[in-house]
Amino acid sequence: MNRAEPREESDVIVVGAGLIGLACAWELAGSGVSVTVFERDEPGCGATRVAAGMLAPIGELDFGEPDLLALNLRSRRLYREFTGEVERATGLDTGYRHTGALHVALDRDEAGELKREMELQRSHGLESKWLGPIAARDLEPGVSPSLAGAVLVEEDAVVDPRALVEALRAGLAQRGVEIVSAEVTGLERDSAGRVRGVGTSIGSFAAATVVAAPGAVAGVAGWLPEEVRPPVRPVKGQTVELRGPSEDPVCERILGSERVYIAPRPDGRVILGATSEEMGFDTRVTGGGVHELLREAYRLLPDVAEMEFVGAVAGLRPGTPDNLPIIGRTGIEGLILATGHYRNGILLAPVTAEAIAALVAGDQPEWLEAASPGRFTKQEVG
Ligand SMILES: Cc1cc2nc3c(=O)[nH]c(=O)nc-3n(C[C@H](O)[C@H](O)[C@H](O)COP(=O)(O)OP(=O)(O)OC[C@H]3O[C@@H](n4cnc5c(N)ncnc54)[C@H](O)[C@@H]3O)c2cc1C
Repeated sequence: MNRAEPREESDVIVVGAGLIGLACAWELAGSGVSVTVFERDEPGCGATRVAAGMLAPIGELDFGEPDLLALNLRSRRLYREFTGEVERATGLDTGYRHTGALHVALDRDEAGELKREMELQRSHGLESKWLGPIAARDLEPGVSPSLAGAVLVEEDAVVDPRALVEALRAGLAQRGVEIVSAEVTGLERDSAGRVRGVGTSIGSFAAATVVAAPGAVAGVAGWLPEEVRPPVRPVKGQTVELRGPSEDPVCERILGSERVYIAPRPDGRVILGATSEEMGFDTRVTGGGVHELLREAYRLLPDVAEMEFVGAVAGLRPGTPDNLPIIGRTGIEGLILATGHYRNGILLAPVTAEAIAALVAGDQPEWLEAASPGRFTKQEVG
């Protein structure tokens, strides 16, 4: 955290230093806008810290969500360039790897379901390939010998969200962006109702534009006026981290079954995810959650039994009523929302940053329409 006195005035204030806030600040600063970020805890300590980092647009998608699919695909296309730029600027590895993903059916019922999903994917023009048990185990020798078949999605990739946060912190410092350790407690407006800054736990700061990226607390954020507060709810998720030898990784690509996924890290670790629980703001790691993830991961990839248990964490996905993020201008001039990224916030970071930079520059990208805050508010979106 930058301990220097924050600049009193910037063009844009970003509230929240999760991956969404940091990526927005990075893009804005890169386009010559002066930015200050406010974080009440540690950067990246929210949902970002818990995420597996799968960049899998189809992964957990319900196919009733074509607008979400379009945003996911746009963001996946941006990812390599986004992480590449951060890595070149800082010399730090973000853990981005174009690994592909193998979705495994562990019995014949699951195979039937997986084949149906594959057909659906293809009908949306998405590339995926059916593999029989032998071909699947040729690719990933560690998967359960009793598998019934698998679907290979070669385009999927993975990133290490914690490493990406560290790289972005370094990159933002290079671009002159301060991350101030303070809680935003109020939105300050002029007599015409336009944004002129924020009130915080350490005083007031001026900016004509405020980007709200507070993650899962957005729906109860008292500093956001009620008429523009987005309908975001916390959806708890737990993940488990295991460590194996980097020279002999247990898997090369993302592995998934009906009940669990396994995301590899470049250093031999894997992340097992994830539970999905409607438990309010509860972030306790539970025996039941860890047990479920380990049991299902073992069914999929028995070698996990030999791995070192590193830890388990829980976090809160910022869920929305229609599973789409909430990105755009509000009825308050100068206030922009960037929240509600639910299960896909790591994947959606580059496209969100692209959108926020365009909005701050005065544009209104057509492709962003489905994510507009206006779909939940009666107020006119300016
Ligand atoms: C178990 C699990 C697994 C996941 N796996 C994946 C995955 O594989 N791929 C994927 O794409 N997505 C995944 N996600 C979803 C992804 O993690 C989230 O969508 C994303 O991290 C949201 O980022 P964010 O920056 O909006 O929120 P957060 O990371 O929660 O950050 C919000 C930040 O705002 C700060 N803040 C809030 N209010 C204030 C205030 N008033 N003042 C100052 N600071 C404030 C908070 O302290 C926090 O640091 C997963 C999520 C979970 C829980």
